[in-house]
Amino acid sequence: MKSFRVRKNDKVMVCTGKDVGKIGKILRILKKKNAVIVEKLNMAKRHTKKNQYSNNESGIVEKEMPIDVSNVMVVCGVCGKPTRVGYRYVESGGEKKKVRFCKKCNEAME
Ligand SMILES: [Zn+2]
Repeated sequence: MKSFRVRKNDKVMVCTGKDVGKIGKILRILKKKNAVIVEKLNMAKRHTKKNQYSNNESGIVEKEMPIDVSNVMVVCGVCGKPTRVGYRYVESGGEKKKVRFCKKCNEAME
């Protein structure tokens, strides 16, 4: 099984589709779909109807649609470049800890 290399609140760049090259923050991870919801990216318009349970006016709202995780790249918080994420083990206090690192600048990404 493919490991999931992205996390909530990661910055990612979209690699394909109409938002290609745009960067956003991951709001949700949909593990079953192997997809992520990225803030303000892959927006789709939805028509809403006014109903008695909400004060919202009827109209069109834009909503983030899932993006396949293979179509995004994590943007490194250290070097600011879209990158591949690697894993390595570091020892701290006698414990081995798995940390993510940026394959571009080699810095740990936590
Ligand atoms: Zn980096």
